[in-house]
Amino acid sequence: MSATPPNPLALDILAVAAHRDDVEQTCGGTLLKMAQMGHRTGILDLTKGEMGTRGSAEDRAREALDAAKILCVSWRHALDVPDGRVENTWENRVKVARVIRETTPRVLILPYWKGRHPDHYTASILGYEACFLAGLKKLEIGAEPHRPFKIIYATLYYDIRPTFVVDITDQLEARFESLMAYKTQFSDQEAGSGIFPAHAEIRARVEAMARYYGMLAGVTYGEPFLQKEVGLVEDLTLIPVKSI
Ligand SMILES: [Zn+2]
Repeated sequence: MSATPPNPLALDILAVAAHRDDVEQTCGGTLLKMAQMGHRTGILDLTKGEMGTRGSAEDRAREALDAAKILCVSWRHALDVPDGRVENTWENRVKVARVIRETTPRVLILPYWKGRHPDHYTASILGYEACFLAGLKKLEIGAEPHRPFKIIYATLYYDIRPTFVVDITDQLEARFESLMAYKTQFSDQEAGSGIFPAHAEIRARVEAMARYYGMLAGVTYGEPFLQKEVGLVEDLTLIPVKSI
């Protein structure tokens, strides 16, 4: 009997988000840090961005690959869920579940389940339910059943106290560059200038948010996450983040 060949698509960490550039805004620094630690990371964008005010879906595909390179991501793919209409349907759950089976991540990063944009919070529930489906042994949707061990939620789009913060002090610069890779969205230009803030303004916002979450954890810059489970501690003397 021959051993099963290693899966070339296998990832340690997969981030799922509604739109191209969501991951860059909410957990790009963390993905880069994990890649620098030797983990294989990936991004699944549910939509292709065809409803965007600026640029086409093709522009965004190119920009998304540039951003992925900056974040040292091993794998990136966009599904064909309609932009602005992310719905938690059986069909969409199966699409995401198939990706989870194919990439077998140990950790899945989802958007937080509340927010202003319906695509964001729907992506959260859709992603969670897809994890459940992906593990069902009798569900035949291709590839072997797999469920991520851990599901965490990137909370940057929503004002909620995170359960933990990842120190991205050394990754902030690259994360900002990955966001700026979306040139059609973020470079200073006339079209849509009422909606899209100028470069300097984005820089100030990104820095302020990262600084705020970093401050909560006693580091310079941080990215916030929430886990539903409790934390597990072995040695009380090694718990990080100062109390007083
Ligand atoms: Zn978005």
